[in-house]
Amino acid sequence: MTEERPVEELLAEVEARAKQCVACPLAHTRTNVVFGEGNPRAPLVLVGEGPGEQEDATGRPFVGRAGALLDKALREAGMARRHVYICNIVKCRAYVIENGRARNRPPTAEEIQACSTWLDAQLTIIKPLVIVCLGGPAASTLIHKNFKIMQDRGKWFSNRYAPAVIAALHPAYILRQAGEAYEKAYRSLVDDLIAARERVKELRRLQEEAKPILPEGEEQLRLF
Ligand code: SF4
Repeated sequence: MTEERPVEELLAEVEARAKQCVACPLAHTRTNVVFGEGNPRAPLVLVGEGPGEQEDATGRPFVGRAGALLDKALREAGMARRHVYICNIVKCRAYVIENGRARNRPPTAEEIQACSTWLDAQLTIIKPLVIVCLGGPAASTLIHKNFKIMQDRGKWFSNRYAPAVIAALHPAYILRQAGEAYEKAYRSLVDDLIAARERVKELRRLQEEAKPILPEGEEQLRLF
């Protein structure tokens, strides 16, 4: 029988390989590969689009203004980063130079496809109960390719990585809104995170109920 290796070890191994990745052109312009971070045993995984300037500079996901907004929404939903795992569909920053300045751009279909190796490995190792896709590109990658974020956010789906998958508005999109539109968009993110948290609880309860009741002797063996 092969011994099961801890998820932390498996994930660290994949991260070390991802940090050497040159499978798409973004490898030539990145500062850091932003693999992902958080609790590798988290039942809830948040997946965004890709690193921005500050994420590229630090190697950490969601650390800029969008990250601060996500942290605030997580707190309002009764969670913190230590309760979840956060990553992106693409691990290196995609940008264009305009008027001498780098401006983030959406990753191309080819870049998303090339990077799916790492996302697939992460989600396969973590085996979350619930995935929250942050924004349309993550939802199109993990739910279905014709996903319409404004229409379909907040609805439940499943995929091969998790029994429950939901999409929420991306914090960077929310930051581009103003006034009432901002409040409404932010509220929807908090509501979707609360729904995701409740779904984790529900799925855990169902898992507990489904556990077979072992004969007394076998139950005791588990103590050693
Ligand atoms: S974006 Fe993904 S596939 Fe492209 S170089 Fe970075 S890690 Fe590799």
